[in-house]
Amino acid sequence: MVSCNIERLEEKIKTFSKFGDTGNGGITRFSLSPEALEARKEFKKRMEAIGATVVTDDMANMYATIPGSEDLPAIMSGSHLDSVRQGGNYDGVLGVLSAMEVVETIVKEKIPHRHPITVVVWTNEEGARFEPAMMSSGVICGKFDKDVVLASEAKDIPGYTFGEALENSGFKGDIANRMSPDKYAALVELHIEQGPVLENEGYDIGVVEGVCGMINYEFTFRGQAGHAGTTPMIYRKDALYAAVKTIQYLHDELDTLDGKLVYTTGKISAHPNIHTIIPDEVKFTLDARHQNPEVIKQVLEIIRKIPKEVEKCEVTCKEAWSRKTVRFTPDLVDYVEKSANDYGYTSKRLYSGPGHDAQYVTDIIPTAMIFVPSVGGHSHCELEYTPIEYCLKGANVLLKTLLYIDQHS
Ligand SMILES: [Zn+2]
Repeated sequence: MVSCNIERLEEKIKTFSKFGDTGNGGITRFSLSPEALEARKEFKKRMEAIGATVVTDDMANMYATIPGSEDLPAIMSGSHLDSVRQGGNYDGVLGVLSAMEVVETIVKEKIPHRHPITVVVWTNEEGARFEPAMMSSGVICGKFDKDVVLASEAKDIPGYTFGEALENSGFKGDIANRMSPDKYAALVELHIEQGPVLENEGYDIGVVEGVCGMINYEFTFRGQAGHAGTTPMIYRKDALYAAVKTIQYLHDELDTLDGKLVYTTGKISAHPNIHTIIPDEVKFTLDARHQNPEVIKQVLEIIRKIPKEVEKCEVTCKEAWSRKTVRFTPDLVDYVEKSANDYGYTSKRLYSGPGHDAQYVTDIIPTAMIFVPSVGGHSHCELEYTPIEYCLKGANVLLKTLLYIDQHS
């Protein structure tokens, strides 16, 4: 059975970990930062060295393509090279490096293929420097307005816009190079799981069926500020106490729903946040995710049942944002599973909790994703790690999946 090369893949991971190295096992490689541009140059150099033609589009998405034996649309694979602050060496970059390794294997082993094969690097997936996340796949898939994102300001340099960073990057290309269904037949993105399920349950490969739908709500509680020493308890309208009771209610109720539901209160603020003053305004968020829209509806029902007044405080809530469940292309998902079986790897079908560029691309061309285990479930931190043996298994499944697509489309 054809296989990618473990030493070559490991060398790629080591080399790319130098761009933005924090010195603590991780990287800070914000989109279009000097470190990210170094990584892009290395990508371009390596892909050209194995005979690929590299172009960029108007959002600086990179496409490195080797020809196929027939005049057909290309099959693409890739991910992103940018990271969060003090992120790891696997999120995004492993998807790019695996795709590079797959193409290198195809070239060096002279594996016949009809379609051209493209390794894609999406610009600004993380949104850590310029919001929003998945910016450039989003723009070319019609999810975001280009003019709005061009005006997005860098969090590290006040007043510096994404548009300026794009102009200065040297990687801004032609709008005609954008991914489109006439030029590309399919996308398969390999990514780390970013959660503990595959490792804990002993699976080699995650066969990703889609991306969980989610809602994000913001709750506001308005009470009455007062002196902590002079206001008797019976007269108080303590907005923090009302918020705490509501968080408890949400946990109790949401725990009765399907066990795959995940929900989080990750952000809370209290005003005036002074230890001698009763809080008069408290806000918190609720993020809830599940693959089945019916379960998300049940979450909304629970939110709707929150009274307008809790502990004498006024309660309001609004949806901050949401996303519908995304389902990947069934045939491609099957190829991923079949490929894992071909190598004798164990696999589990699952849905992604986090968002990925592939979820936008699936509106345009057939798409699937492959997950590899994340040790300890760590991600978006320097502890992020996937042993090289698992990276290789992922790359092999990617290779075989692309070859199945090549045969059947
Ligand atoms: Zn990622």
